[in-house]
Amino acid sequence: MTEIQGRSLIGFGEGSVTENFFRAVAPGSGTSLPPEFYSASVAETELAIKLAAQAFAVSSALSGSAKGKFLRAIATNLETIADALVERAQLETALPIPRLQGELARTCGQLRLFASVVEEGSWTAPRIDRAISDRKPLPKADVRSMLRPIGPVVVFGASNFPLAFSVAGGDTASALAAGNPVIVKAHPAHPGTSELAGRAIRKSVQESGLPEGLFSLLFDSGNRVGVMLVQHSLVKAGAFTGSYAGGKALFDLAMEREQPIPFFAEMASTNPLFILPGALANNADTIATGLYNSFTLGAGQFCTKPGLVFLPSGTTAEHFTFSLKEKVSISAEFTLLTAGIAHSYASEAVRRENNSKFRLLAQGRSGGNLAAGASAALYEASFQGLLQDLDIAAEHFGPSTVVVRYESKSQILECAKNMSGHLTAAIHGTTEDLANHADLIRVLEGKVGRIIFNGFPTGVEVTHAMVHGGPFPATTDSRTTSVGSLAILRFARPVCYQDFPDSALPAELQARNPLGLWRMVDGDMTKESLC
Ligand code: NAP
Repeated sequence: MTEIQGRSLIGFGEGSVTENFFRAVAPGSGTSLPPEFYSASVAETELAIKLAAQAFAVSSALSGSAKGKFLRAIATNLETIADALVERAQLETALPIPRLQGELARTCGQLRLFASVVEEGSWTAPRIDRAISDRKPLPKADVRSMLRPIGPVVVFGASNFPLAFSVAGGDTASALAAGNPVIVKAHPAHPGTSELAGRAIRKSVQESGLPEGLFSLLFDSGNRVGVMLVQHSLVKAGAFTGSYAGGKALFDLAMEREQPIPFFAEMASTNPLFILPGALANNADTIATGLYNSFTLGAGQFCTKPGLVFLPSGTTAEHFTFSLKEKVSISAEFTLLTAGIAHSYASEAVRRENNSKFRLLAQGRSGGNLAAGASAALYEASFQGLLQDLDIAAEHFGPSTVVVRYESKSQILECAKNMSGHLTAAIHGTTEDLANHADLIRVLEGKVGRIIFNGFPTGVEVTHAMVHGGPFPATTDSRTTSVGSLAILRFARPVCYQDFPDSALPAELQARNPLGLWRMVDGDMTKESLC
């Protein structure tokens, strides 16, 4: 296995041995895994930030082709250490090898997607409004704008995707693609995986002849490093995937700075699934199987897990619930990512036991020997109970879901209107159901980032049209996505150049259109040269 040293990567340098250290823990056995990982000191964190600020002068001026080459080099370097990465990630997360292999492929695919976006270049959205010197009563200036990188970005790796939402994941790929240096605060649940991925990125920086501060990876056994990163005046944006408590705390810090910065936190989502009458009558068994597979996939540790299911009352609903109960009761014990996540899952189960608005319909097997074990759970809540206590719709991270029966269309509309923001909503229906529930869809458009028809929310394609975002508390900024090529827009801002001589303009805005981009010229989209 490629050697893991347990040191932060500060530009091209290594962090020192400090008195604060931690180890990864195998979620199944609970044994701690060597080596020790040393928390970055204050001076090392400061150095990583300063190097990033220096590197921004170079990275912000890189061409799309240079950035594309760099992103492709990261993907290749990750693939070169695929076995070591997957082996270590399996030890640290207990996720199955095929899942981790798939996640690595997705990670490399994301990097290459962003490479193709920046190589093509139109993501910079160039706009040109030409001057009209004889306009009356006043001449019109020449005004040109495009998206430019924002500055050093801090990324908090997620526990539930050790590769695709972590050190070399979508946040890092999109921030680098936009031309920004990145400092990653490693998730303490998979530090070895983080270091391996970090070394592959650093190697790519060196091979590409780019400045060392373009990438740093910092370890910490607590919150000090993360807080310092978000509060530092040279850091210009942040990205996070994890708990509501963590994301909101860091978002608040970003807003309380003397100069507030955008902080894109993807947090809690329950992803309501609406089963409409026609679909239940036609496909009850198929939907029950799909739902079970979706809420237990990855042991229910996906931000898109369907955690709230609306079911029309009646005899078919009895059959549907019976079928789900059977699946849950015979399900084997799951291993969650960390003992902390297993503890939160169990605590929420106890809270539900003591809340009369919930009824436990079925529970899966539990061996009790796993350090981070959890049994699947199926709950029922009444429609009235949900309306009185919307906490029923709070995220329960792990293999559980809640079924709520409804009597009428107006009831689900009322629930949907009262819901807070989620990443997704899914609708199972016939074409006729869909036509009869057009108003439900209108309500959901205001509540979620992605609406799925006759499918399940887990499994997020990394594409150009994907939206993995949604109104608060699903994220801290509903205008963006953290998956897909639109994610690059989080780390860029528009800059306008007025009356500039052509030679001093970025290539994207020069008259002859040397990059051959789609540009908006006087309101029309064109690739034409203006010479
Ligand atoms: P987390 O506790 O939110 O931690 C994520 C990262 O943020 C870690 O690096 C953590 O560092 C850091 N962090 C958290 N709070 C912070 C603070 N106040 N100041 C500075 N840094 C902070 O998430 P987790 O450990 O992955 O899982 C815990 C819970 O989060 C789960 O039970 C689940 O409910 C939720 N979760 C949700 C999603 C989702 O996609 N919706 C994904 C993963 C987890 P430290 O660990 O060192 O504090």
